[in-house]
Amino acid sequence: MQTDKTSPAFAVAPAALALSNPSAADFASADLDILKAQARDIRDTQWGHVVTYSRKVFAPLTNMCRDTCSYCTFVKHPDDPAANIMSPEQVLAIAKKGEAQGCKELLFSLGEKPELRYDKAKAALAMIGYQRMTDYLADMCALVLKETSLLPHVNAGTLADDEIEILRPVAASMGMMLETVSRRLTQKGGPHYACPDKTPVQRLRTLERAGQRKVPFTTGLLIGIGETFAERVEALHAINECHSRHGHIQEVIIQNFQRKPDIVMANAPEPSLDDMMRTIAVARIILAPEISIQAPPNLSARHLAYLDAGINDWGGISPVTIDFINPQHEWPEIANLANSCRLAGYELQERLTIYPRYLRDGEAFVSPQLQARINNMAGSNGLARNQHLLAGSQERTIEQNFGSGGCHS
Ligand code: SF4
Repeated sequence: MQTDKTSPAFAVAPAALALSNPSAADFASADLDILKAQARDIRDTQWGHVVTYSRKVFAPLTNMCRDTCSYCTFVKHPDDPAANIMSPEQVLAIAKKGEAQGCKELLFSLGEKPELRYDKAKAALAMIGYQRMTDYLADMCALVLKETSLLPHVNAGTLADDEIEILRPVAASMGMMLETVSRRLTQKGGPHYACPDKTPVQRLRTLERAGQRKVPFTTGLLIGIGETFAERVEALHAINECHSRHGHIQEVIIQNFQRKPDIVMANAPEPSLDDMMRTIAVARIILAPEISIQAPPNLSARHLAYLDAGINDWGGISPVTIDFINPQHEWPEIANLANSCRLAGYELQERLTIYPRYLRDGEAFVSPQLQARINNMAGSNGLARNQHLLAGSQERTIEQNFGSGGCHS
């Protein structure tokens, strides 16, 4: 990452990609420095020099799933002694720890509908009084709202209309990685073989349904699982088109595949840093400027370089819980990340799980049940009113510190 604005990365920007509607092949062959400069321009114009993160805890409500993605280390077969469904007490214990550490969000992550495939999962759910994992999830969101100050965000995978309806009043935002639009990857030998929820059309339907119901929504690409560059570009266009219909895509994550010893893809190559940078830059160029671009800081030692490719957000970082999806990769110290961002010319700020522009839009994207709570938690710029940037430090109220210019979202 260039930290000096007189250094080459910040020198006179190379000419933008000289095409009005670049194809995937154009993006694949374009000079990376040109793409990055164009992406930075878009980012700086829309988002200024504020880079955000969400201080949160993660609650893996269940690690059982009816899918079996070849890169997943999170999922456990119901016969595995480690398979579980978190109890309400366990959920609350994590939530309270997060609250004590200044977190504002609890992210529920969970496998997809295990009760539809496995009798054991169905029985385990029935033991706690539920027939459907989504109903349990909704009740756990309500519990978190009742007992803590946190805002729930749910990552429950593909969702039907009625599932979105029951989650919307108790979740400030929702998410589901589109990952890819490649149908090839669902064929035998592919990472999504026999994964009903990873059929691209199902995931695109969930994106569409969330938009129709005005749910602030997080999605993204998982790169390096066998997709082509053209398929990445196709996925970005699909997300953007859905957003143009509904305005609900608040952020897009560009996530790099990580090898782990216990997965089917243990020996598959990981995307290079340049590959990651090119994809981030192309995402920034293709997607509407108001869509936040995020890349995880814990999945590359050289994550600061992502700033150079146009990201404006680091996603969720927890001072309490590990990254359950990539448990071998620790979160960065938030104070260190803030310092690194400052040296690169950007100020790290804490945001809520729901992005500022949805608060300005009034009630359309905020469920009435959550309106007062969210308004209380947001500063005048829509980011977290109380910033908890330094580990162990007291929260700092930013309401008066910078006005509406602090974030251009
Ligand atoms: S859907 Fe998610 S939890 Fe289930 S196997 Fe795939 S990556 Fe793992």
